[in-house]
Amino acid sequence: MKRAVVIGAGVAGLAASIRLAERGWDVTVLEQQAGPGGNLRAWVRQGHTIDNCLHWLNGTRDGSPLNRLWRSLGVLGDGVGLVRQPFFWRSYLSGGTVTMWRDPDRTEAELCEKSPDDARAIRRFFCDARALATGSAIKRAKVVLRWFRVSLGDFAASLFDPDLSTFFTDYLGGEYAALGLLFAYSAFLSGDADLPVGGSPGVAARMAEKFASCGGKLVTGVRATGIVLKHGRAEAVLTDRGEAFAADRVIAACDPHLTFSRLLPEGYAPAALGRIDDDPRTPHISSLHVALSMPDPLPPGAAWTTVIGGDPAAFPKRTGGRLILRSFVHEPGFAPAGRTAMQATCFLSGTDAAEWLTRGAEYERKKAALSSAVLDAVTRAFPYSSPEVIDAWTPATYLRYTGADKGDYIGWLVPAGMIPPRLPERVRGIPNLSIASGWCRMPGGLPTAARSGVRAAADAMAADPLPRRFPGFSILGGRKAKKRQKFDLPS
Ligand SMILES: Cc1cc2nc3c(=O)[nH]c(=O)nc-3n(C[C@H](O)[C@H](O)[C@H](O)COP(=O)(O)OP(=O)(O)OC[C@H]3O[C@@H](n4cnc5c(N)ncnc54)[C@H](O)[C@@H]3O)c2cc1C
Repeated sequence: MKRAVVIGAGVAGLAASIRLAERGWDVTVLEQQAGPGGNLRAWVRQGHTIDNCLHWLNGTRDGSPLNRLWRSLGVLGDGVGLVRQPFFWRSYLSGGTVTMWRDPDRTEAELCEKSPDDARAIRRFFCDARALATGSAIKRAKVVLRWFRVSLGDFAASLFDPDLSTFFTDYLGGEYAALGLLFAYSAFLSGDADLPVGGSPGVAARMAEKFASCGGKLVTGVRATGIVLKHGRAEAVLTDRGEAFAADRVIAACDPHLTFSRLLPEGYAPAALGRIDDDPRTPHISSLHVALSMPDPLPPGAAWTTVIGGDPAAFPKRTGGRLILRSFVHEPGFAPAGRTAMQATCFLSGTDAAEWLTRGAEYERKKAALSSAVLDAVTRAFPYSSPEVIDAWTPATYLRYTGADKGDYIGWLVPAGMIPPRLPERVRGIPNLSIASGWCRMPGGLPTAARSGVRAAADAMAADPLPRRFPGFSILGGRKAKKRQKFDLPS
């Protein structure tokens, strides 16, 4: 039986492990945290479940290739309920509220009524969102070409109504490509971006169960400290407990920065990694979060995802004081009776995030100031709602929890006009080592992580097939293996 050791039980690592285990490999996953999931995780504070990840899951529409992938990994299935949010988000603005409804006709009509001068641009946006959701491949290609070089900031700046300008940059931010919003909204329209009931912890638990049901072993609370190389092959993974897990195949499913800087000797990092990191157009992304407990019933305007204004001086400059709120009305089990869980988020990039990486007295002071600014903004937006702060977390939390570079979690921001960069899953010079990570393809996220894991597993299976009945296949495998040695570097 071929042995695989997978470093990291995030979505990428679990996807790779499930694939290999169901094909008969002996798979051990090493995870430094107490449980599986990586960024797809939740924790409990004062009886409230704080769901770190799922805002939506791409691939919830039956029959799509991504849906089949999720089903094969145990994430979706007949027993898994889906929540369909009535709107993508609602912005609270000086002139009232503006909502990105699930119904594009309704949204378009409301926006045009609010700003008739912007009707042409608004119609173009929604016509193209519909084309992406249900149009032919040619129509979709035309939309991509039309918007490829447009950032959300450019689009917002082209609008006359200042409220609409704010609305279009409220969720993702002006530096994002407008195509990012168009794709996300079109997935929402076509029912391909719903929420699995049970949220992030439910998805992580189902993947871990699927892995266990295929005979896989998940070892938690153990950190991989190095990959042992011999004759240009990965032989074993060392851990902080002093163990060595021998392997025919290693899949590093933690942040690739970690793999190349700490787990392997110098010289194996792909050139693309440094290039993307050094490119000022592709900063990293992270965020600040505050979890709130709200009394039931929640003010009706606070349900689902809303964006409100706060004191611009109290929030990162990039946000202009705008704050994204998510209430978990759809998950009553996430809060004690009589309460609803809510989370506030501000996205950070580059230097803003760097300021939140060092713990200490100043960090605690900033965290307390952030919590009180969020409390203030929510109380102003929803008077008499009496929110209570129950937790706050920052890039330092992500750094501590997943070890991801600079406390980031979803890779690099890809601006308009740039073809999303890629990292190879194969490691040049070590034929039996693969990378599996949400960082491998931009814009990152759960589907990217899962696909990367599946690709890494496919690579392992192609390179190290299980013994076949016909000797001819083994000979072929042997020849192939010789060819691959070409790139071997001395270890
Ligand atoms: C706030 C937030 C909201 C998000 N919302 C969404 C969303 O709505 N939809 C979506 O698609 N995506 C979303 N994402 C992104 C998504 O969570 C990530 O893209 C995805 O989880 C990445 O998975 P991964 O397996 O590549 O990496 P990770 O989740 O980082 O997993 C890596 C794992 O490796 C472990 N590890 C690291 N080093 C070691 C070591 N040395 N030894 C052992 N284990 C190690 C870590 O502990 C971790 O468990 C969100 C992320 C965050 C943080």
